Amino acid sequence: MSEWTKHDLLDLQGMSKEEIETVLETAKSFKEISTRDVKKVPALRGKTIVMLFFENSTRTRSSFELAAKRLSADTVNIAAGNSSLSKGESVLDTARNIEAMNVDAIVVRHPSSGVPYILSQHLKASIINAGDGCRSHPTQALLDMFTIQEKLGRIAGLKVAILGDIRHSRVARSNIWGLTTMGAEVTVCGPATLVPPEIEAMGARINYDIDEVIKESDVLMPLRIQMERQEQKFLPSLREYAKEFGIDAQKLKNAKKDVIIMHPGPTNRGLEVSAEVADGKYSVILDQVTNGVAVRMAVLYLLLGIKR
Ligand code: ASP
Repeated sequence: MSEWTKHDLLDLQGMSKEEIETVLETAKSFKEISTRDVKKVPALRGKTIVMLFFENSTRTRSSFELAAKRLSADTVNIAAGNSSLSKGESVLDTARNIEAMNVDAIVVRHPSSGVPYILSQHLKASIINAGDGCRSHPTQALLDMFTIQEKLGRIAGLKVAILGDIRHSRVARSNIWGLTTMGAEVTVCGPATLVPPEIEAMGARINYDIDEVIKESDVLMPLRIQMERQEQKFLPSLREYAKEFGIDAQKLKNAKKDVIIMHPGPTNRGLEVSAEVADGKYSVILDQVTNGVAVRMAVLYLLLGIKR
């Protein structure tokens, strides 16, 4: 395992293969803790971690909170709707005030790309990006890679297809950075309006033929259509999208026998994935959620738990 020197986790862009492997290895050793009767170890006792969420979240927020608590850290939750932000305070001022209470880490989610970066430039606390705009969601990609490795035994050499609303997806961007660094071949597929050509510069291949993509892939990762981020009409209709790109049993007939279906959640059943497939034998969607806690424990431990 490589030596861990990072103070913040903002992005996977620029993270080395060895650093990603360190997170995945550490997560492996933490996963078992969540299966114990007493789900707690003292690794972060005395540390304080604040969840500062300016956007809705179910999985990511509770996953970070459980991860912190299982490492014995103290946690505080702040949601934008009931904070001083609604009284006109800036994000940076809010974060500075939180830091003045001597907190060790701030886990931040914000609808604008770049907010975690700005906080990291001004604050001494560790900043962990829990999703910023369309840009980055590093812990989601780390837990996706952990799940792929757990289910298929490796990442290098696999063909991973990310499907649907690539344009607005921070999950797609972080996964492309992470998976290509780990040696996977990433293909993106979706309606042309939702696949920005510049995605190729990140190392992903574009293929608009969904049947071909399903046939050749080891991993299929349909994404949610980001309704909250569509500034113009990118789709003629959701029904047409579901018919063309939604993953259902019929489309999976030509898939590899050991293909896995992933989804970052929340899933819109019947739109990007059918209920039958979401609950079916290829689906690892709930394993991703389980693994999210172990991966976030690893990230918090590597950032806060090791004395340097
Ligand atoms: N939960 C993921 C995110 O926050 C994916 C989604 O919302 O569609 O980006």
